[in-house]
Amino acid sequence: MIRPILKYGDSQLHATARPVDAVTPDIERLIDDMIETMYAAPGVGLAATQVGVPLRIFVIDISVGRDPNGLLTLINPEFVERDGVQLEEEGCLSVPGFNATVMRPMRVVVKGLDRNGEPQQHEGSGLLARAFQHEMDHLDGALFVDRLRGIKRDLIVRKIRKLSRAGKW
Ligand SMILES: [Zn+2]
Repeated sequence: MIRPILKYGDSQLHATARPVDAVTPDIERLIDDMIETMYAAPGVGLAATQVGVPLRIFVIDISVGRDPNGLLTLINPEFVERDGVQLEEEGCLSVPGFNATVMRPMRVVVKGLDRNGEPQQHEGSGLLARAFQHEMDHLDGALFVDRLRGIKRDLIVRKIRKLSRAGKW
């Protein structure tokens, strides 16, 4: 089932998600819905907080379905390593229509549980490292807009407020 994606300004996006205790049928259904919602958008990643569920789960597929092994589901993810710096344009399904250059680590190692509750570890660089950091931020209640400073951030926030007032957000 495709779930509605919350947009910037919704307080649920700015709350810290809590760890998953056990992979219950409800959690499995949530993960299936998140995958379906991510592909339908389409997007390269989605965090549970974006569909209004405050649990530490995200899904990522930087191939957007083209690579059969591209789909990653991480439950209770944690960083093991973060190295380097990259500066690239980034967007977010919760901030549709906006992009900005965001500083991210160049390489990331994350560990967590897979959807069977088994421990797993992944290494990513470039776009994958960016996606890991972006989705982890969601679980901590932060969006890419929150990582911007000064004029760039003000401009996006002002435009969103304007869209909001016009009922177009
Ligand atoms: Zn996002």
